[in-house]
Amino acid sequence: MEFFGVVGEKLPHTLSPIINKRIFELIEVDAAYKIFEVSKSDISNLGKALKLLKIKGANVTIPYKETVMEQLDYISKEAKDIGAVNTISLENGKLKGYNSDYFGFKKMLEINSIEVKDKVCVVLGTGGASKAIITFLKDSLVKELYIVTRSKDKELNIPSNIKVIDYKELEDIKGDVIINATPVGMYPNVGKSPVSKEIVENFNTLVDIIYNPKETEFLRLGKKLNKKICGGLYMLVGQAVKSEEIWQNKNIDIEVINTIYKELENRFA
Ligand code: NAP
Repeated sequence: MEFFGVVGEKLPHTLSPIINKRIFELIEVDAAYKIFEVSKSDISNLGKALKLLKIKGANVTIPYKETVMEQLDYISKEAKDIGAVNTISLENGKLKGYNSDYFGFKKMLEINSIEVKDKVCVVLGTGGASKAIITFLKDSLVKELYIVTRSKDKELNIPSNIKVIDYKELEDIKGDVIINATPVGMYPNVGKSPVSKEIVENFNTLVDIIYNPKETEFLRLGKKLNKKICGGLYMLVGQAVKSEEIWQNKNIDIEVINTIYKELENRFA
């Protein structure tokens, strides 16, 4: 049997064990996936612990996605560009780091037939998820990329070819795809949108990476205006499947993503 898990500080609500155990069943791998809550004072020992216990793979979540990087023997290009690792793989005694959020976002766009190449894209929020998304959009050769923050004063470390704007400046932007990478509208604070109907009007496609609720207030506004809309559940399942592809060193059929998506869909109203 192989051993896997998710590493974070406090993980009372993580869905990772449910999703990864289901992937193991569907791809017929004999493995265990556990929750590892690690304190800030112990996280510097993570690499040694994974090697010692021969834990083949770990997902890493808040607040350790950046701090674990120094313990790894190799970091993939997308994780380096993003500046964060959420997947560690133990391969031949070496620890390798990847960022599967990047691939989960990519998979969600593909499944929903959302094109970003040569498009004008706007990302709301400047946190960890936003960094994975803007790295993917930049690699996808979008025409223009804006990132929207509440405060332009803070140090953001965003590549110079991406325009950082505030919500007032967003009022003058017309584009193709607008992506919510803020927690605004997430359960239990449902019924709130990060932008107004007037802003939504200026875009053709709305993507919200929040998956609970399934249809956020932001997406509801878009739906009312006949925009194309896409919620974040495919990204969640897609990133878990990408981590498994790395650990199992094989491609996993798209039907696995679709099956788990359908099973989880009913959890979120
Ligand atoms: P985060 O770091 O807590 O927040 C992201 C950014 O949103 C912040 O840096 C901030 O940017 C902005 N923000 C925060 N509170 C806000 C508010 N009240 N009003 C307006 N803007 C606000 O979160 P994250 O880890 O990047 O995740 C963001 C969301 O994506 C969460 O809801 C999370 O559950 C979801 N997510 C989904 C997936 C998936 O697989 N579907 C993966 C990762 C995350 P500024 O200060 O610059 O405005």
